[in-house]
Amino acid sequence: MSVQTTDPSDLFIIGGGINGCGIARDAVGRGYSVTLAEMNDLASATSSASTKLFHGGLRYLEYFEFRLVHEALAEREVLIRAMPHIAWPMRFVLPYHPSMRFENDTPTSKLLTTVMPWMKGRRPAWLIRLGLFMYDHLDLGKRKILPGTARLDLRSAPEGAPLQDRFETAYEYSDGWVQDSRLVVLNARDAEARGAQILTRTKVVSAAREDGQWRIDLQDTETGATQTRYAKMLINAGGPWVGDIIHEKVHLNVREGVRLVRGSHIVTRKLYDHDKCYFFQGTDGRIIFAIPYEQDFTLIGTTDAEHTDANEAPVCTPEEQSYLINFANHYFKQQLSDADVVWTYSGVRPLYDDGASSATAATRDYTLKVEASGGAPMLNVFGGKITTYRRLAESALDKIDAALGRSTEKWTAEASMPGGDFPVDGVAALIASLREAHPFLDQRWARRLMRTYGTDARAILGVSTGAEALGEDFGATLTAAEVDWLMDREYARTPQDVLWRRTKLGLSMPEEGLARLGDYMDARRARV
Ligand SMILES: Cc1cc2nc3c(=O)[nH]c(=O)nc-3n(C[C@H](O)[C@H](O)[C@H](O)COP(=O)(O)OP(=O)(O)OC[C@H]3O[C@@H](n4cnc5c(N)ncnc54)[C@H](O)[C@@H]3O)c2cc1C
Repeated sequence: MSVQTTDPSDLFIIGGGINGCGIARDAVGRGYSVTLAEMNDLASATSSASTKLFHGGLRYLEYFEFRLVHEALAEREVLIRAMPHIAWPMRFVLPYHPSMRFENDTPTSKLLTTVMPWMKGRRPAWLIRLGLFMYDHLDLGKRKILPGTARLDLRSAPEGAPLQDRFETAYEYSDGWVQDSRLVVLNARDAEARGAQILTRTKVVSAAREDGQWRIDLQDTETGATQTRYAKMLINAGGPWVGDIIHEKVHLNVREGVRLVRGSHIVTRKLYDHDKCYFFQGTDGRIIFAIPYEQDFTLIGTTDAEHTDANEAPVCTPEEQSYLINFANHYFKQQLSDADVVWTYSGVRPLYDDGASSATAATRDYTLKVEASGGAPMLNVFGGKITTYRRLAESALDKIDAALGRSTEKWTAEASMPGGDFPVDGVAALIASLREAHPFLDQRWARRLMRTYGTDARAILGVSTGAEALGEDFGATLTAAEVDWLMDREYARTPQDVLWRRTKLGLSMPEEGLARLGDYMDARRARV
């Protein structure tokens, strides 16, 4: 089957990760007509595989990435305010030990080796304090919600209890947490509510300039059906595939590329009881985080490994898993082994290729390039962080305005995301109000719904006063009412979408429930 649609949109966006969906939302809110195509599920690639931090990037200071750190630090609270359901402040505990080392080729380590050669690559405590001071102040006064840096005596503080006794001192600082794949889907939902067309499971197979506009050929990746769309401007937000789109789909002669750097995480049962994260520095100069995850688990990551082919699905290799286990075992009293790992995930960072010598050192900043040599303009998006996606979208809109001769206003800094229309300190009140209206919800269930849907949880629960009103129960508190919402309102099509991207219930869903969920979703798709 082949569908022809000739109406041109202003913008055609390739890629339903955070950058594509963030640009779609911002652009449609400024009056542009927008179509977005994602070849798999939304957030099926890098944007569901991050460490999930809204962070300034403390370690980027050692690379003198001041622009990125300043922008990301200032952005944390803008984002947390706009989505207090899926994002929240986190405290990070950084244990100090004199053996901690730099990665050899950071500008800071090179400078220190020159002026203080006797340090032999070690990271002194005063440098960490200086870095944290800058972290507290580089946002130029924007920090209002997140508390500043503090020093901890690990011999008496509860944060010291899970750690080995040789760690006596720690520094504590703030950053934020975000449910990355939910952030993507909420951007897509909001974009669609404002008029964008979001096509999932739709691959851009080729795009070419034709009569002063773009002709884009699409293929439905489930049915094989093809269609053609037209647009005034093409936006390439293909993440790891940005180069593939430039060279294989559009056949452009563009020099810029991405460097693919894989990062893997492991998940274990909860390793400690408090709600803070750990920032561990290794003897190899790298750092990893250990983070409380989904109420019952601990998330540990990440790695930096070269990845050669975007089409090769990233997985956590046995070497990466051992590396993360050994790293954590250097700090925790509890010694982990492979048997403690309940899940792993892996993603590929699409970093702008700036010729940096190591994967760890490659810039995490973004670069936007407009290519307009052949008539209709194309914008290529390289790199970027989840944390800076909104600012990246604003910068993209500056370039889009210039390319299409329009003048539009920024608007996203003050606008809440779907379900996020409540105050940052209103979380407990929202959970309480859900439990009051729906007395069958226990605290964990209500909390999960609030952390997933915010005020939209009310629409899912409707007027139910008993759990049976929510339909089939698949286990792990997932009911038919929630699945229906995800299929009708959040583009979910398969159990994978529901269990690993719209929620993380895959961690606790029983096998038997999984099979029933598959049958239920198949039947519903056939019906609708
Ligand atoms: C291990 C790891 C940890 C990270 N941790 C953090 C963190 O803690 N904080 C932070 O701020 N950032 C973090 N990041 C960075 C962040 O996750 C990425 O920068 C961001 O997700 C990139 O989003 P994207 O939209 O550019 O790419 P993606 O999410 O990969 O989206 C690109 C999309 O384009 C689609 N696509 C490609 N080709 C086509 C085509 N031909 N047709 C249709 N669709 C197509 C793909 O299917 C994909 O879904 C981390 C990254 C990694 C890998």
